[in-house]
Order: sequence, then C-alpha cells, then structure tokens
Amino acid sequence: MRSVVTGGAGFLGSHLVDRLLAEGHDVVVIDNLITGSLDNLAHLKHESRLEFMEWDISEPIQVAGRVDYVFNFASPASPEDFRNYPIKVMKAGGVGTLHALGLAKAKESKFMMASTSEVYGDPLVSPQPETYWGNVNPIGPRAVYDEAKRYGEALTMAYRNAHGLNTCIARFFNTFGPRMRLNDGRVVPNFVKQALMGEPLTIYGDGSQTRSFGYYSDLIDGVYRLALSDYSEPVNLGTQEERTILEFANAVVKATNSRSEIIHLPAVVDDPKQRRPDTTRARTILGWEPKISLEEGLQETIAYFRVKLSKQSETDA
Ligand code: UDP
Repeated sequence: MRSVVTGGAGFLGSHLVDRLLAEGHDVVVIDNLITGSLDNLAHLKHESRLEFMEWDISEPIQVAGRVDYVFNFASPASPEDFRNYPIKVMKAGGVGTLHALGLAKAKESKFMMASTSEVYGDPLVSPQPETYWGNVNPIGPRAVYDEAKRYGEALTMAYRNAHGLNTCIARFFNTFGPRMRLNDGRVVPNFVKQALMGEPLTIYGDGSQTRSFGYYSDLIDGVYRLALSDYSEPVNLGTQEERTILEFANAVVKATNSRSEIIHLPAVVDDPKQRRPDTTRARTILGWEPKISLEEGLQETIAYFRVKLSKQSETDA
C-alpha cells in the first residue's frame, strides 16, 4: 500500500504516518510547514519508505506513481491560527481539499477527509450525533475553519456522488498528546506550559464551557479502522470524557504538582459552550472504543512538554 498524507508533518498527521508505516505502507507526506514541523518526523529520518514533499496543497498536487489512500489532514487547527492565518485556513480546507480529491480521483485512491467537531459550531444538542447539522456563525472568528471544513465535507460527498470516488469522513473532537505545538494557543499546551512554568492558568470566561479530551493514539486507531471500512457517512471520533475548562485546569495543576493559580480572562467570541461526541457510529460500525483516560494521556503529554520547555530554555540561554 502507498498512502499520501497531507499535513503529515503536523500533530495528528505525523502520528498517522507512524501508524501507516507500522502497517506496512509506503508514505508520501505533503506539508507546507506553516504549522507542521519536520521535528515531528525527525525519528523517521532514515526511513526509506517515507517521502517528504514541501508543498502547499492550495496549489495543484502532483504525485508520481500509484497511490492507494489519500488522507487529507492539512490545516492549521488552533483558534489562534484562525486569527493569524484566516485565508490559509480557508484555502487548506477549501481549494486544498479540492486538490487532494483531484489527486485521489486521478490515482483511484480511497480518500479520507479529516473533518472536525467544529462543523457543529456552538451546538444546541448534546452529545452531538453525526446527524446534527450544527449551529455555525458563518462570519464569526471561527468561520474560516468551520466553514472550510463543512465545504470540504460537501466536496468529498460531491466527488463520491459525481465520480464514484471511494471516500470517508472523520470528525475529530478535541485531541491532545505529544507533538502538539507548545505555542499553538490551545488549552492543552497553554495550561500544561503555564503549570510547568509556575505561571497562572488562563481560563477564558468563567470556565463552565466543556470539551471532551481524546488521546491521539485512540483517534489514530479510529482513523485507521475507518480507512479500512466501507462506511461513507461522517464518523465522530472523540471521547465521553467531557470536562468543564475549570475542571480541566484543576486536573492539569494536579497532574503537574504545580503551585500555579487559576485566573479568568475575558471570554472569547463564539466559544462553543459544550462539546461531546455521540460515538455510537464509531463503536458499532468500526468496533472502536477509546482506551486512554484523560489522566493517563496528560501524564505522557506533560512529560513531552517538559522536554520541549527545557530545550527551549537551553536555546534561550
Ligand atoms: N481556553 C482557555 N484558556 C486558554 C486556552 C483555551 O480557557 O489558555 C478555552 C477556550 O476558550 C475553549 C477551550 O479552552 O473554551 C478549548 O480551547 P482550544 O483553543 O483548545 O480549542 P477549541 O476546542 O475551542 O477549538
């Protein structure tokens, strides 16, 4: 098997690359390194089955040779990225997805769209089943990501219906773990970094908003199972471990043995108030069940960020 992973130098993309190589695939990574990093692939430097192409998928994609799977994982994914790279986010999810679909069509590959719980916006239904159409502000600060991913899902179905392309759609809920960017602004790196450095943990708003935090290894297992399945409707991948952000801040303080205090900053615009997946589809169709608890995942993630922070302070010194 030979797979193309767009965004393969990113947090989730690079973990998918590891899994595909372990399953015996040859892998071509396409990444423009805006938010991805070659550090995430450094352990594969001598892997002859891995090919790296530095390329922006908002330009047409050419890959020589056969391709069995196209995993479309490229996109900046942190709310801070939505502010910093709004057009690039829309291009990656929009025209980038179009080009990745074009590649899959030309090569007669199976195509996976990496989508997101953001398609549900600020959901009025909880937990969120795949049949829920969402509550998205089309012109708000998160719209660049939410609408691009919704457009990407629509494009995926259009290629399936118009060209008979073999496709699937995964909707990822909040996922964390090693290889997240230390400074990407998301809650996991922010709180862990703040706790390790003895700085206050910054909660946006009153902290009553919820997220369900899934571990990367469980998510990648779901991705792999979905790729092998014949299922074409969207599938949620995430955990039932729903916590308020205040509870999560306390969990990080405890797990790091930190003395940091918790402070409140102004709430951010259009911050979804609740997020928890209905994972009936993943469980019944893929036989998938997340295995790693929030506490276990946090331990490994904290260990990873400790190393990153000490390297950063060596460089700063
Ligand atoms: N958040 C926070 N403090 C931070 C970073 C994030 O309170 O330093 C909150 C944010 O307002 C949101 C939740 O944590 O309610 C998750 O934010 P994140 O940026 O990780 O991703 P999102 O799930 O919103 O896409």
